[in-house]
Amino acid sequence: MIDLHTHSTASDGRLSPSELIEASCRAGLEAVALTDHDTVSGLAEFMAAGRHRGVTAVPGVEIACSWYGLSLHLVGLFVDYENVVLLELLSSIRRHREERNRQILRNLQKLGIPLTDAAVQAESQGCESTVIGRLHFARALVNGGYCLDLQQAFSRYLGSQAAAYVRRFLPLPGPAIETMHRAGGVVVLAHPLGGGGRIQRGRLRQKMQRLVSLGLDAVEVRYSDYDQPRQQIASELADEFGLLPSGGSDFHGEHSSSIRLGRGYGNLVVPGEWLAPLRERALFHTSLN
Ligand code: AMP
Ligand code: MN
Ligand code: MN
Ligand code: MN
Repeated sequence: MIDLHTHSTASDGRLSPSELIEASCRAGLEAVALTDHDTVSGLAEFMAAGRHRGVTAVPGVEIACSWYGLSLHLVGLFVDYENVVLLELLSSIRRHREERNRQILRNLQKLGIPLTDAAVQAESQGCESTVIGRLHFARALVNGGYCLDLQQAFSRYLGSQAAAYVRRFLPLPGPAIETMHRAGGVVVLAHPLGGGGRIQRGRLRQKMQRLVSLGLDAVEVRYSDYDQPRQQIASELADEFGLLPSGGSDFHGEHSSSIRLGRGYGNLVVPGEWLAPLRERALFHTSLN
């Protein structure tokens, strides 16, 4: 069993990169990918810890992209985390995040919530290069006693329809895919059916078709949130477009939800055989550079 979608304290996860390796050993995973939001700063520690413990550690990153007024998430796996083009894209995204974080704080203050920047920063658990995002705001709102739980923090303040929400700059998928390819990565469409709601199969098919023309390699066919119909549709569309299957839990740490590493809500299984074809495709992209 493997898990190709996880977060650490380098973004909005709870475990440090080496703690994530330890947890993967305990969970009996053959391989685990670290795919933090908009940063590769956890990967050196992650890869070293993986070598030390004999777990296959896959270097990754997750990048949200803009999609006709909405967003979609791409996961790059086997990326060269020293690649300058990738590092430049990520730091430009992070600069926009910082501006947005200041605006979210101002919005909360206008709503009468005296949350401080220090309280939000404190949610990074002492990791100084943490990419601060809405989950850190949500945790600070809960810890400050302003919200009962994370769900309430998102539904009242931080969700895209909520009072303190601020959009942020998102790159287009074309350049993001090209950049991850130049960094020798294989590009996966993350959780295209995640989040519940009605399944819009036609729309998803069109999205995948366009992404394939932009170079998309793979799609998450297994994901914590998927029910059986979602898994089935993801798998059929992957076959239709010749996309490689990938999958993961989107684990953020035991304490922020009931999602478990490698197991999701309990039924997730990502087969170990899916790793080699993904690695081969990444090597192909590397060979073109
Ligand atoms: P950001 O990248 O700053 O826009 O924050 C998005 C992150 O917030 C996601 O990666 C999730 O970790 C988290 N998130 C978004 N919506 C929710 C929600 N309803 N409940 C809990 N976490 C959420
Ligand atoms: Mn997250
Ligand atoms: Mn995502
Ligand atoms: Mn994720």
